[in-house]
Amino acid sequence: MRAQYQRQPIGTEWTVGAKENTGDGIRAGQRVGGSVALMDDAWWGPTIPVPGRPYFCLAERTLPGGLLVDRSGARFVNEAAPYSDVVHTMYDRHPTDPAIPAWLIVDQNYRNRYLFKDVAPTLPLPDDWYGSGAAHKSWTWDGLATAIGVPPAALRATVDRFNSLALRGQDTDFGRGDSVYDHYYTDPAVVPNSCLAPLWLPPFHAFRIVPGDLGTKGGLRTDARARVLRPDGTPIPGLYAAGNASAAVMGHSYAGAGSTIGPAMTFGYLAALDLAGVL
Ligand SMILES: Cc1cc2nc3c(=O)[nH]c(=O)nc-3n(C[C@H](O)[C@H](O)[C@H](O)COP(=O)(O)OP(=O)(O)OC[C@H]3O[C@@H](n4cnc5c(N)ncnc54)[C@H](O)[C@@H]3O)c2cc1C
Repeated sequence: MRAQYQRQPIGTEWTVGAKENTGDGIRAGQRVGGSVALMDDAWWGPTIPVPGRPYFCLAERTLPGGLLVDRSGARFVNEAAPYSDVVHTMYDRHPTDPAIPAWLIVDQNYRNRYLFKDVAPTLPLPDDWYGSGAAHKSWTWDGLATAIGVPPAALRATVDRFNSLALRGQDTDFGRGDSVYDHYYTDPAVVPNSCLAPLWLPPFHAFRIVPGDLGTKGGLRTDARARVLRPDGTPIPGLYAAGNASAAVMGHSYAGAGSTIGPAMTFGYLAALDLAGVL
C-alpha cells in the first residue's frame, strides 16, 4: 500500500509504526464501500536509519548547534518545524533537488551538551552507526563533506552562513525560531535565539536522515460521528473508524503533541456515543 499510495522512495524499513499494521482495517472498510483520503500522507518524521530499528529523531534535529543539508550541501528547511512538515519538504524537492537522504550536521559542542538518542553527552556513539553509514565524523568540514558525498565548498559556505545567522539570533533564510512551536525542543540557555547556535568545535558529525514515520495518516473517510463514508458522502450503517485506520482529522498538518492519540480517543468515544444512540 505504501508503494501504491505514497511518494517514492518509500518502503517499510524506515517506519517505527507497529509492524502488524499492514492496512487490514482500511482494506476491510474499502471492501464494503468505504472511501479513503490522505493515503499519500503519514505522521512523517526525519529519521536516522540506525541498525536494528530506525530512530525517529525529535530533539536532536531541533537543538541549537545542528542543521540539515541536502545532497548539494545546502540548507533547505526550518529544521525546527513540525516533523511532518520537514518530511513533506524532503519529498517536495525529490528528485529534482535531492534531500533523501538529507544530513543532520552537528559539532562537538552540541555533542558535549545534549543527549543524542540514548547516548549521553560526550560519550561515543555506537560503532555500528558508523559501520552502517548512518553516522560520520571528521575533524574537518571538508572531510565530513567528502564522507557524506556533498561538495565541500558548499558545506563550508552553508555552515559559515548559518553561523552568522546564529550569532545574530535570526534565521532570515528559513525562519527557525520564529514560531513558538520551534522552541519546543531547544536549549533555553542559548541566547538570543534558543534554536540557533554556531557550529565551530571539531570533530564534526553527520547523521543520515530519511523520511520515517510513526504510522500512516491515510484511511477511511469519516464524518463528525466517526461514521465511515461512501464516496458520495453517505454513511455506511454500523461502520465506524478512528485512529490510524481513519483519514486523519488533522489533514496534512501536525498541530503539536497528541495530534494522533487525541483525535483517536475522541473519535472512538464519539463512535461509542453514536452506537449508543446518544448523539
Ligand atoms: C514511537 C512512537 C511515538 C509516538 N508518540 C506519540 C505521541 O507522543 N503522541 C501522540 O499523540 N501519538 C504518538 N504516536 C502515535 C500513536 O501512538 C498512534 O497514532 C496511535 O497509537 C494509533 O492508534 P490506533 O489505535 O489507531 O492504532 P494502533 O495503536 O497501531 O493499534 C492498532 C492495533 O491493531 C492491530 N492489528 C493490525 N491488524 C490487525 C488484524 N488484522 N487483526 C487484529 N488486529 C490487528 C495491531 O497489532 C495494533 O495493536 C507515536 C507512535 C510511535 C510509533
